[in-house]
Amino acid sequence: METVLKEFFGYRSFRPFQKEIISEILNGKDCLVVMATGSGKSMCYQMPPLITKKTAVVISPLISLMQDQVMGLRQRGIRAEFLGSAQTDSTVDSRAQRGEFDVLYMTPEKACSSSASFWSSLLHTGVSLLAVDEAHCVSEWGHDFRPEYQKLDILRPHLPRVPFVALTATATEGVREDIVTSLKLQNVFTAISSFDRSNIFYGVKTFNRTSAFREELAREVYKDVAGGGSTLIYCTTVKDVGEVTEALIKTGVDARPYHAQLSSKLREETHRAFSRDELQVVVATVAFGMGIDKPDIRRVIHYGCPKSLEAYYQESGRAGRDGLPATSWLYFTRQDFVKGDFYASSNVSEARRNAVLEAYSAAQRYCSSSGCRRSSLLEYFGEKSTRKNCGNCDNCCKPDGLQFFEMAEPAHLLLTTVKLCGGKWGMNMPIDVLRGSNARKIVEQGYDKSPVHGLGRKKSALWWKGFGDQLLAEGYLLETRKITPVAQIRLVSVAFKGETFLSSASHVGKTSLMLPLTP
Ligand code: ADP
Ligand code: ZN
Repeated sequence: METVLKEFFGYRSFRPFQKEIISEILNGKDCLVVMATGSGKSMCYQMPPLITKKTAVVISPLISLMQDQVMGLRQRGIRAEFLGSAQTDSTVDSRAQRGEFDVLYMTPEKACSSSASFWSSLLHTGVSLLAVDEAHCVSEWGHDFRPEYQKLDILRPHLPRVPFVALTATATEGVREDIVTSLKLQNVFTAISSFDRSNIFYGVKTFNRTSAFREELAREVYKDVAGGGSTLIYCTTVKDVGEVTEALIKTGVDARPYHAQLSSKLREETHRAFSRDELQVVVATVAFGMGIDKPDIRRVIHYGCPKSLEAYYQESGRAGRDGLPATSWLYFTRQDFVKGDFYASSNVSEARRNAVLEAYSAAQRYCSSSGCRRSSLLEYFGEKSTRKNCGNCDNCCKPDGLQFFEMAEPAHLLLTTVKLCGGKWGMNMPIDVLRGSNARKIVEQGYDKSPVHGLGRKKSALWWKGFGDQLLAEGYLLETRKITPVAQIRLVSVAFKGETFLSSASHVGKTSLMLPLTP
């Protein structure tokens, strides 16, 4: 193994887990590899064929990704090819069957539609493994669900005793289970590396999609870029990409847009210029991502919240692959989450819809959280963080540490009012009641006669909303969703933790609830 590592790849030593995984594959074991982007997962399936002289079949979701990999492998003297709709060379199919390739990339569609005789000839010449790259695509819980990935288990009977190796950079426990079940992995060797990217600073801020904000952002980027390093700005829509790019160019930043509506030629040019440091800033939708192997991206900015924490983690994780300090700022508005409801109400299966909604909620809780961002992210991926204060996120780096304020009184007010509203409404109703509104809905329900009516008048509705978000993030309030044929309604109610708070508050007269929000 060491000889092959040196000879073909020119590396002196293995990265964590690589050697173990390769050994398990050579022993014929199915593997599940969950390791951060840039940690060297590809090596795990590229090396066994060089040792056993048997083809490695690799399923990958994107043609562009496969082409990049094929090119890279050929430069190292490894015989690599891809099979998919974009393959124009008709001889590849038969050459593959004769075992002429060390690594053969295939799209899931191509793999599933290949004939039994294709697989049996390939098997006859020798198959060292079947790798499924970006394996989270099999899961409806994943952030990048691809239905064709779910059919991959039909390859199992074609390739008896061939180790299946699933690889992904992000997978929560649910997604991991889905991968194992869906690909029918057996007696799996699992390698999970830590998700902590300690060199990345995480920060979150609210924003508005206004030209004033974009100008301010552009000035910041201008200053940053002058200091060196590349910046990647992720937007949630093509429209945002256009507006942000325009603001940057106006400010004198050389930025280019990247999204699915641009021609592939333009996109390739941008990708190449960015990789070669001829272009410092790319403003992109999620279309720009998989396959970016640029080690020195110093900043990733999210203009709008992505639709899941997996997506956020993966996109922000493109910063600082070289291990040097990098920053990731996420700008969000409440609007970002409302859109989620809209997306989720379109024509998809119930399980998928719930998964999408759950993912949005998690992203929203992350944004509203007042605790350590790193801990929140790590916990989301099922990793217990040991430190309370990471010292490298906005909340941990607040001047004088995080300042906490006594919020028992407003918490008591809001929780009581939410309870009064009986879980039948969203957050606006209890806030309107607290602010003393006499709107018809409120009078009809008799809420105007309640002792809490008007008690929260001193604070703005916006303040109460922010406070409500915090109580949600801290688990005092609970949000459930009612799906009607025409809309999604979020209903807010008091969670167990909130009930406990309320009852202890009424017994003792006074309990404490410290939150880092300005009272
Ligand atoms: P992943 O698939 O996990 O995102 P890659 O396989 O693309 O990561 O590897 C990221 C980078 O690390 C590549 O440039 C690769 O050549 C390099 N790399 C992989 N293994 C080693 C190693 N053992 N020593 C040094 N560099 C390595
Ligand atoms: Zn922190």
